[in-house]
Amino acid sequence: MARILIVEDEADLRDILHFNLQQAGYTVFPVATGREALRLARERRPDLVVLDLHLPDIDGTEVVKRLKADSATEDVPVLVLTARGEEVDRVLGFELGAEDYVVKPFSVRELLLRIAALLRRREAPREQRDVEFGLLRVDREAHRAWVDGAETTLTALELRLLLTLHDRKNRVQTRERLLDEVWGIDADITTRTVDTHVKRLREKLGAAGGYIETVRGVGYPFRESPDAHTA
Ligand code: CA
Repeated sequence: MARILIVEDEADLRDILHFNLQQAGYTVFPVATGREALRLARERRPDLVVLDLHLPDIDGTEVVKRLKADSATEDVPVLVLTARGEEVDRVLGFELGAEDYVVKPFSVRELLLRIAALLRRREAPREQRDVEFGLLRVDREAHRAWVDGAETTLTALELRLLLTLHDRKNRVQTRERLLDEVWGIDADITTRTVDTHVKRLREKLGAAGGYIETVRGVGYPFRESPDAHTA
């Protein structure tokens, strides 16, 4: 069963989470500080981290940043717990690479569903297999793409953009992150360029273009879109 690191300084909430996750069959490592969280994440290699953003020592956003910057922990999904109305923190959570968040107060049931979804996503193979998603097919080695059986000609950059979005399915990819991963961090272009290329890629994908959604002001998640299937 999956191993979950809980990072929450409020003892009552930490105990509730500990109890409920254990009841659900998970192995739980509860800690109260960011420092302990970073240490345990390296030592115990959890399958998922549930992280309160407001911690007494290291700020939660900084904990996410360090987890994602460390090759030992970068692939561990992070679910952020945040207080109501913290719009900035939420956005920041995604920009920093947190995979999901729930707003306090939340129901344990909802949290368990989110955790299960993140863990399922983690088990799914990615980045090796050819893309077969709804109307979309991509042969990675041949650098060829098809929509509903018809080949669409993508530039190398468009293909890279598409695969980067696809391989991080259901997670919002910020324009900054896309710039970094698709163009390379030193590229002398602006985030607006990302918007332009996403727009062109969507057009080339036609009926499958709807898989690339826009989260205004944040970035782009690749998602199953019901519209695309009715095309
Ligand atoms: Ca707290």
